Amino acid sequence: MPIDPTLPYDENNIFAKILRGEIPSNRVYEDEWAIAFHDINPQAQIHVLVIPRGAWVSWDDFSARAPAEEIAGFVRAVGTVARDMGLVEPGYRLLANVGQHGGQEVPHLHVHLFGGQPLGRMIA
Ligand code: 5GP
Repeated sequence: MPIDPTLPYDENNIFAKILRGEIPSNRVYEDEWAIAFHDINPQAQIHVLVIPRGAWVSWDDFSARAPAEEIAGFVRAVGTVARDMGLVEPGYRLLANVGQHGGQEVPHLHVHLFGGQPLGRMIA
C-alpha cells in the first residue's frame, strides 16, 4: 500500500530498522550522510537503494526541510554509489517515488538506482 507522504516520520519503518541494524541488509556503501543496499526485490540487474541517515519521510519532506549540508551529503552519496559500482560509463537511472501516485511504500526517503542493463524509456 502506498504511504501518505504528509504523515510524521515513523521510527518503526523498515528502512529505519535497517539503518539501526535491527534487520539485515546487503550494504554496498555507507558514509556520514547515507547508506546504500541492494533492493530485496530487484527490478533490474543492479537495483540499489540509497537512503539518508536522517529521518525524512519522502523526497518532498527532505527537499523542503533538510539542512543544505545534509542535502549535499546525500546527493553526493548517490553519485558516489553509482561511480563506485562502475555505472557512469554504461549509464544508470535514478528514481524517487513519492506518495500514492508515485507508489511509495516505505516512509523513509530512498532513491532507487538502476543499472547493469539497458533500461528502456521512462515509465513501463
Ligand atoms: P518504494 O515503492 O517505496 O519506492 O520502494 C520500496 C522498495 O523497498 C521496493 O523496491 C522494495 O523491494 C524494497 N524493500 C522493501 N522492504 C525491503 C527490505 O526489507 N530490504 C530491502 N533490501 N529492500 C526492501
